[in-house]
Amino acid sequence: MAVRALRFEGDPVLLAVAAPVTAFDADLATLVRDMFDTMYAAPGRGLAAPQVGVSSRVFVVDTGWKEGEPAPLLFVNPKITAQSDEQARGTEACLSIPDKAYTVARPTWVALTWQDLDGVSHTGRFDGAQAICICHEHDHLDGRLISQTGVLQ
Ligand SMILES: [Zn+2]
Repeated sequence: MAVRALRFEGDPVLLAVAAPVTAFDADLATLVRDMFDTMYAAPGRGLAAPQVGVSSRVFVVDTGWKEGEPAPLLFVNPKITAQSDEQARGTEACLSIPDKAYTVARPTWVALTWQDLDGVSHTGRFDGAQAICICHEHDHLDGRLISQTGVLQ
């Protein structure tokens, strides 16, 4: 288990557009394992690579583990291909902005493509908490934080 140091708002890596992953190698596998360890230790429901100082298009999500129903998901080079026209406002927090909560509007579902650790492509559609979390983490890959897109509560 390797928990990596979190980066916090004000760190330039959180405002950068992350680079696509091109090498599906042992370093990527280590990064992903460490990201899950770091997310669960934080404790959080999602973590993007820039939040541990790596400007790569990778994020992990698990919206169920805090309720005892783990559902770990990994997204490498994700692209949102469709989303609902309808948006819903909800409360979000971010591991990189401690002790604050924001009201953020998100689509109620998203469809996306992504790759796994082996570079194999996948497609899927997500709703509810998973859609919110995926949008939040996907924003991190484009240098967007909820302090920019949301309203401080
Ligand atoms: Zn965040």
